[in-house]
Amino acid sequence: MKHQDLIDKMTLEEKASLLSGKDNWHTKAIDRLNIPSIMMTDGPHGLRKQLDGAIGINDSVKATCFPTAVTTGSSWDIDLLYELGETIAEECLQEQVSIVLGPGVNIKRSPLCGRNFEYFSEDPYLAGNLACGFINGVQSKNIGTSLKHFSANNQETRRLDISSTVDMRTLREIYLTQFEIAVKNSHPTTLMCSYNKVNSVYSSENPLTLTKILREEWGYNGAVMSDWGAVNNRPLGVEAGLDLEMPGGSTINDKKIVEAVKNGTLDISFVDKAVDNLLDIILTAHDNIKNDYKYDIDKHNDIAVKIATEGAVLLKNDNNCLPLNKDKKILVLGALAETPRYQGAGSSHINSHKVTSLLDGLSNLNINFEYAPAYTLDSKKKSDKLLDNALALAKNYDTILLCVGLTDEYEAEGFDRTNIDLPISHNNLIESVATLNKNIVVNIQCGSPVSMPWIDNVDSVLLSYLGGQATGEAAANLLYGIANPCGKLAETFPLKLEDTPCYNYFPGDGKNVQYREGIYVGYRYYTTANKDVLFPFGYGLSYTKFGYNSLAIDTNTYKVGDEVKFMVNISNDGSFAGKEIVEVYVSPHSPMIDRPVRELKAFKKVFLNKGENTDITFTLNERSFSYFDVDSNKFIVDKGKYDIIVARDVNDTSLITTIEFVDGNTTDKHLSEQSWYNHPDTNVIDEKDFCELYKMPLPEPYVPPKKGEFTIEHCIRDMMPTSSFAKFIAKITKAIMRKVTHSKDNDPGLRMAYETFISTPIRVFPAMSQETISLQGCEAFVTMANGHFFKGLHRMLKDVSNQKKVKRAREQENL
Ligand code: BGC
Repeated sequence: MKHQDLIDKMTLEEKASLLSGKDNWHTKAIDRLNIPSIMMTDGPHGLRKQLDGAIGINDSVKATCFPTAVTTGSSWDIDLLYELGETIAEECLQEQVSIVLGPGVNIKRSPLCGRNFEYFSEDPYLAGNLACGFINGVQSKNIGTSLKHFSANNQETRRLDISSTVDMRTLREIYLTQFEIAVKNSHPTTLMCSYNKVNSVYSSENPLTLTKILREEWGYNGAVMSDWGAVNNRPLGVEAGLDLEMPGGSTINDKKIVEAVKNGTLDISFVDKAVDNLLDIILTAHDNIKNDYKYDIDKHNDIAVKIATEGAVLLKNDNNCLPLNKDKKILVLGALAETPRYQGAGSSHINSHKVTSLLDGLSNLNINFEYAPAYTLDSKKKSDKLLDNALALAKNYDTILLCVGLTDEYEAEGFDRTNIDLPISHNNLIESVATLNKNIVVNIQCGSPVSMPWIDNVDSVLLSYLGGQATGEAAANLLYGIANPCGKLAETFPLKLEDTPCYNYFPGDGKNVQYREGIYVGYRYYTTANKDVLFPFGYGLSYTKFGYNSLAIDTNTYKVGDEVKFMVNISNDGSFAGKEIVEVYVSPHSPMIDRPVRELKAFKKVFLNKGENTDITFTLNERSFSYFDVDSNKFIVDKGKYDIIVARDVNDTSLITTIEFVDGNTTDKHLSEQSWYNHPDTNVIDEKDFCELYKMPLPEPYVPPKKGEFTIEHCIRDMMPTSSFAKFIAKITKAIMRKVTHSKDNDPGLRMAYETFISTPIRVFPAMSQETISLQGCEAFVTMANGHFFKGLHRMLKDVSNQKKVKRAREQENL
């Protein structure tokens, strides 16, 4: 162990105390041994540093709000992610923050996940490589990162206790690969475990993921911290490899660690290992803190503009409607043009230095435009008059720019969407304007895919996603050709929600969610099932045209383990300088196991002036051709032929070559011939087929508890259907939250706080409230919810008086 000398000097109590934080954002100091405290804050697309006494999640120091991961993800630009990381690290230096809590690399299993805006992609190879860029950038300035949320955390519904039921091959190939790429190539300072269970074991105490895979297989030597409130059984967690419990401020679990060591249920070596992992980070992080560092706010805004520009995706551009002509007056419709949605709600919310709307962006370019809001941002208010007014104006213009999107109330951490529709008033606006036969350009602001029933009736669509504080400047530059669009989708836009592979298996029954679609997530499903989509994975247009000219490879015959190198020539044949993302997919001819028809295995973004061309070299390795074999517990490659496809998007086949592995696996690994996994052509998947894949007994269907059966493992949401007391507490708490934070009912921050409150197992409250709520208090609450109001009240009053005595005694001690 690296810090054995220091560890030898620590008492058991001191060791245990170091394994949980001091408060919401700091580790504990041990002054006697000169062990300092360090600060960590959210992330990941800016800093959310909260000062003592902050009220609500949005009360943080000013910082630059960069585009969220959904936008940076569609840049497909590892160097840009590096620059983003470096820039955020500079803000950490000024704010004396040692660790930024990101990046988030969870896979977008369903477009409904409320937190998709915080994640990069539906593809693990892309998500992992982009995460590497971010981590390397942040860590280049000696600031730490926290790769999150480990693992299989792909929904917000019941995120604190849902169990993701996922077969081992899918877990390895889809839900762990991006963590593996980032851990092996970028060594993130810390990893954050998720709230949920994976196959019935909490992530915070899962020895398979935290130790066997993460440390023993991938060689991770940083520290693992819990998501905020994710700890269930602390001693088990220490043994499984969870080093730090966050948030801190409660001593309950520290005491449990001490007790477990003393009674022999937890070996001290696990505690020492966790302390060693943490000391390593705390001591280095502390040395890196600088006084008087100042970052350049304007420069950071320029970087925010650049990233928003690179991440926007041009989805349609008929008749070269874009770029727009600067000399022509246009009509801009849609309240989001004036008040943009540029980031998501929840723990990643940044208190931006400034925000540039699309209208600001147009004004900066001296564009002559007229504007009308056309709808209200509050879905509860009527938009009819605004729409009539907009349509009357529309008659006077040839070109109309419509700004639509998902407003704040639609997507946030803490809850999932229930459909992929835009607000009705936004769809109405587009459809009504489209009847006037005008040139229509649509600009969309949203954090995840939306359906576009009007797509055939508009000329152009520019997707800004959530573009950060400079979203408007970036969009205006793109619309007027000051910049050339160069983003591509890092996720599929389905035609309708019902088409999505996990449609019938999301978000589960309240206790378990079965990942029945297995590896067929996102494009892996649509391409294999031959299903039409609105826009495929990897898709995005440019104002210029790129030629995919040639693919050169020295040999087509390989042995497993050989590198496969090839060169492609790409040219810019159009009339604008621009960037192209060149994608490489691998497609096996006759695999020995059911496999997606193609999978992304490499990509590169290149800049070309008009008329220029370039040679790009790609190298694929053994992993590029492999799949996870559950029998041998490793990734293996089949003997046989593979197409290498160099493409503009996942459905394209611009350049193809075929190679062959002359050795490799020849054993048939297919599931039974009738299994859905051999013919994934619908998204209705038999339980029998899933059982064959899952290979373990499925969890029993969830039977919600009734009044009289509640324990501290349940949450208020479980109790509400049968306990009017629980319902009353939920209502009162919401009212208090609304008052304290001065929020409206459809405010996403309020909804997130409320959803989290009612979905948190009661046992977590002492840790989350820094022991303002005691365990006895929780038990008393459960007694009341179970219908024994007076018994519970009596216990609660007794507990309040006990707590007062303890507080007084502590105060006396301190005097
Ligand atoms: C989120 C994390 C975040 C943490 C601290 C949790 O609820 O899941 O992503 O870093 O809170 O705010």
